Amino acid sequence: MSNLEKTLSIIKPDAVERNLDDEIKEMFKNNGFKIVNEKKIQIEKSEAEQFYKVHETKPFYNELCSYLSSGPIVVMILEKDNAVLDNRKLMGATNPKDAEIGTIRKKYGLSIDKNSVHGSDSLENAATEINFFFKD
Ligand code: UDP
Ligand code: MG
Repeated sequence: MSNLEKTLSIIKPDAVERNLDDEIKEMFKNNGFKIVNEKKIQIEKSEAEQFYKVHETKPFYNELCSYLSSGPIVVMILEKDNAVLDNRKLMGATNPKDAEIGTIRKKYGLSIDKNSVHGSDSLENAATEINFFFKD
């Protein structure tokens, strides 16, 4: 049984700044993901605050929102069977120090905050996050 899903991925400012976006996109493609839509943008801090609203009570919220809006990002809709979970696996643990070999965060992440990629954590959040960046 196939279970085609879409999920939202963001290549964060630390990775775009180091010109890693093409390499990271290759990693997605080599792992069976189709990039069905993508754009390179820079968002306002107020937009980052909306996007990360689920984290608004966390001590790192303000820095996280400043960081995500600090430079260009690449936002993508990724599609494959079980895209949500498979993207989380390919990304690796939030802290690159804990991420397994072969994951994006192990390879490119600099620190727990500058960890190179975002990925939706559930099918429901994937739909919300895709709609956030790609309305219409
Ligand atoms: N983050 C941080 N400090 C922390 C935990 C998280 O700066 O102690 C940042 C980090 O960039 C992470 C984002 O907040 O990717 C969202 O946190 P979450 O727990 O949702 O991790 P993710 O889903 O990105 O693995
Ligand atoms: Mg998360």
